[in-house]
Parts: sequence; C-alpha cells; structure tokens
Amino acid sequence: MEVEPKTISEPLANPFGLEGDADPRQRAWVEVSPNCLERNTRIVKSLLSNDCQLMAVVKADGYGHGALVVASASIRGGASQLGVATLQEGIELRKAGFEVPILLLGSLVDVEDLRACLHWQLMPTLSTIHEVNLCEKLAIDSGRKFSVQLKIDTGMTRLGCDLSEAPGLVKTINSVKNVQLKGVYSHLALADGDLYGALEKEVTQQQKERFDQVLRVLPAQGDGFFRHIANSAGTLRDKALHYDMVRVGLALYGYSPIKQLIEQIDFSPALALKARVNLIREVPKGVGVSYGHRFITKRKTRLAVVGIGYADGVVRSLSGSIFVLINGQLLPQIGAITMDQMVVDATDCQDLAIGSVVTILGKDGDQSIGPKDWSEVSGLIPWEILCSFKHRLPRIVI
Ligand SMILES: *Cc1c(COP(=O)(O)O)cnc(C)c1O
Repeated sequence: MEVEPKTISEPLANPFGLEGDADPRQRAWVEVSPNCLERNTRIVKSLLSNDCQLMAVVKADGYGHGALVVASASIRGGASQLGVATLQEGIELRKAGFEVPILLLGSLVDVEDLRACLHWQLMPTLSTIHEVNLCEKLAIDSGRKFSVQLKIDTGMTRLGCDLSEAPGLVKTINSVKNVQLKGVYSHLALADGDLYGALEKEVTQQQKERFDQVLRVLPAQGDGFFRHIANSAGTLRDKALHYDMVRVGLALYGYSPIKQLIEQIDFSPALALKARVNLIREVPKGVGVSYGHRFITKRKTRLAVVGIGYADGVVRSLSGSIFVLINGQLLPQIGAITMDQMVVDATDCQDLAIGSVVTILGKDGDQSIGPKDWSEVSGLIPWEILCSFKHRLPRIVI
C-alpha cells in the first residue's frame, strides 16, 4: 500500500496540546492578577470617606496590565468611575460594555473626536470657551446632553485653563443648555516622588488653595458633580486633597508612589514579568559577554540565556544592574540586554534547566523584585516601567 508523503502544511504534533497556537508562556509573558487589583482597590477605597468616590485610572492599557481586566477588578473593588487618556481607550471600555462614567484625561483637538465622545458617552476634559461652544453645538445637533468636565491649571502647567479663566468658563458652561458640567478638576505636580520636603509641600498646598479659590466662586452644582485633584500620591498623603473623588492609578496596581508608605500599606503588585531560560552555557574565566563585552567573566561561569529583551520592554539602560529570580534565587543579569535576549549568571543556581521560569519582576519563593528596584538603578520611574511592556508579551490573567 502506498503511503502519502507528509506535506509541510500538515500540522506538527503540538507540545502544549493547544489547538494550533503555541503556548503563550513558552518564551516570555506578563501575568496579571485581578485579585490583587481588586484588593488594592479595596485598600484605597477604605482610606476614603463614604461620600468620596474612587476613579480608577486605566489609561495606557491599564498601565500595561490590560485595561479591561483592570476596569473589571477595580469596579469590583469599589471604583465607581474610570479615567483614560485617549478617546480610543474610552471607546474600548464602552465596546466591552462598561457603563460607569468615563473621563478622558487628555485633551481632544478635533470636533470629530468630541462627536465620538458624545456618541460613546465619554466625558471630555474641556479648558476653553471654544470647546464649550463646540460641545453645545454637537449636543443640539444630536438632541442629547453632553456631559463634560473642566480642568483648571493650579500649578502643573500642562493641561487646563488658566486660573483666572475658570470662573468665566464655569459660567459659560452653566449658561448653555445642553452641556452639563460633571466635574471640575486639577492635577498635582509635586505630590509624588520620594522627596516631599518643604518645597513640595508648599507647592501642593498652593495648588490646593488655588483650587479652593475657584471652588468658592463656583455656583452650586447638582448631584453627580465632582471636584477632584488627587492622584495616588495626593490620595495617600492628605485627606484634605480628597474632595468628592480621587483619581488613582499606581496604587491600584500595587505600588506606593511614596517610599515611606511602602511598608505601612500592604499593596500587592498585580503584575509579574516572566520568561524562560532558552540555553545554558559554560564559559571559562575572562570571556566577554554580549554586545560590547561590557561584562567579562571573573570565573568559570554558567550562563543562562533568557528569552526577553528590550523589544519586550526590559530597557537596555538596565543592562548589568538588575537581578532576576530562578527557583527563588536572586541571580545577576550580566552584559548588555539585547533586543530579544539577555544573559544571566546562573553559576550558583540550583536545578537550572532549559525552560526554567525566570521571574524578572514579581515574586518567587521568599524573594521579590519590583519596579522600585529598577528605579533605584536606572532613574526610570515605576509608572514608566509598568507602561513599557510591549504587546509582544502576552498578558496571562491568573
Ligand atoms: C495618570 C493620571 C492620574 C493617576 O496618577 P497616579 O499617580 O498613577 O495615581 C490621575 N490624574 C491624571 C490627570 C492623570 O493623568
């Protein structure tokens, strides 16, 4: 009997037993824990008075965790509103079925963008009379009310209207019939950062005073109106900054923006960054490792080549200054981090094998590595680190 020759298009045996696709954890991946997100949200919520609401800031794809997972978990944990940076981020949440109020923290430039806001019931952040008039016109054309928020610059010197323009803007918004003011807010410039000395305190206090100054001349607004100024740092530092709502990002993900509070508040990091050992090599003393030979072995060394690099978001400036965990043991990363790989000195590692899981951020046994550890050696900030993990890394929800 003749046997048909196998063709190349015939599927090969799948070692992971998945239909067609490879196991997303074969090379490198990000693990996200909704339970930790929910728990962190509860902790933040517990710091607020009963009439203060929590807006979960889920911009930048939920600080790299996945916006939808974060939105669900934070709402379970007590958040009642969501904040995003861009229109597309807001639309993604609406398409996924989220019905809570969503504020676009960024600025919109195009009338079409405002039209999309109205369509998807996303609140834009306004800061000019021109925008107010555009919104009123769009609202009239569509026969719908347009919910918006007004941003006031109290000292961040970025988005928002000038302090002196705020009362006039509020008056204009209140005078047009189809635009509804759902909030007035501002943003703190110096509340986060490990150094919170006299200058930082003074600037934050001055921002608060400027905000209060506007609020005092604000005509009484109805229900569903929110005054807010605090990010994670402002929320954790001072209850006087809470007003009707706080906008919290970093803390929900499990990190304190304030070094002094890390021990006191029991946040759980919701993200872990993992990869696998691809190759194990033994090299003698005196051998240069990776591009530029920035590391020369000082002894006979066992190298573990790990399948993750700067194209995944482990930035090159971390080269030679971070540690990873294999089997609960801290091991130094050596030589230049390359686009897709990095090398670890695994000479002292027990039970090292091809395929061993390498924890680059997160917990393994008693040890854990967090964005703060990377900050200390690189000057990167935790926000920046969390947002840097690229879509090449699958997100595994655990
Ligand atoms: C990103 C952002 C926040 C959240 O900041 P965290 O420090 O992560 O809590 C709050 N408000 C505005 C306007 C933001 O852009």
